[in-house]
Amino acid sequence: MKVNLHTHTSYCDGKNSPEKMVLDAISAGFDVLGFSGHCYTSFDEGYCMSREQTEMYYTEIRQLAEKYKDRIQILCGIEQDRYGDDSAANFDYAIGSVHAFFKPCESLPEKYPGGIIPADGGCYIYVDWTEEAMEWAVRNLYNGDSLALAEDYYETLASFSDDPDVQIVGHLDLLTKFEELRSAKGKKPLFDTEHPRYLEAARHAIKALASAGKIFEINTGAMAKNYRSTPYPSLPLLCMIHEAGGRIMINSDCHEAGKLDWAFDQAAELAREAGFKTLHCPIPNKTIQEVKL
Ligand SMILES: [Zn+2]
Ligand SMILES: [Zn+2]
Repeated sequence: MKVNLHTHTSYCDGKNSPEKMVLDAISAGFDVLGFSGHCYTSFDEGYCMSREQTEMYYTEIRQLAEKYKDRIQILCGIEQDRYGDDSAANFDYAIGSVHAFFKPCESLPEKYPGGIIPADGGCYIYVDWTEEAMEWAVRNLYNGDSLALAEDYYETLASFSDDPDVQIVGHLDLLTKFEELRSAKGKKPLFDTEHPRYLEAARHAIKALASAGKIFEINTGAMAKNYRSTPYPSLPLLCMIHEAGGRIMINSDCHEAGKLDWAFDQAAELAREAGFKTLHCPIPNKTIQEVKL
């Protein structure tokens, strides 16, 4: 069974219309295509769907599901940001993602880069905005302690374990998005991902999410955009998910037609390397399909 449940369209920051993506999925041989537009997030409306767009998105995906039901199963999901404004309850499924997390602080320096959003009592830090924003946050909000930032990120992610509407954990170690870029510029990694503190923070989140029954995605989106040569999460974290009894699926976080199954073979290979034998796909009615790798 060929499945992708992480797909963006021109309703948010994707390039193509939903119908174009459906036709693309059919020609690529998909059995199930799930859409996951970014939920409305009031503190940054730049890349998410507005409330009106969310309604239109919902209606159009349902219409497409009906129109193409003999050729492919179409699901209407949502990518639920931790600090998104609305609940994901009405959708077929939700991917819980932390793009930004809240950092309490008394005041921000006068100048701060994009990706740092001031808010009452602190600010939101986007971990996937730019390499500069991440470096700035570590230096100015964490006194240079990048592991403390990683601890806050993973703690925020872990809190999805209490959200019954979220079935899938999005791009587990998104905070490492720019590490290859840094290395290409001759810079040291921002995060020491072998440090016991980093591993402990990730392990704590993985255990909480796995015991809550959440499914972790292997996400190839940053590979399609040339940020990374490997998917999220890294192999050591994937092994940790396996040890914790967690379940996985493969998603492309696709923003552009032609890339729906980007690097799926590499993702499957990585899953096998971590010890997985099957993938799990949540489908409506709260059942979960198990598929051989
Ligand atoms: Zn995302
Ligand atoms: Zn996404």
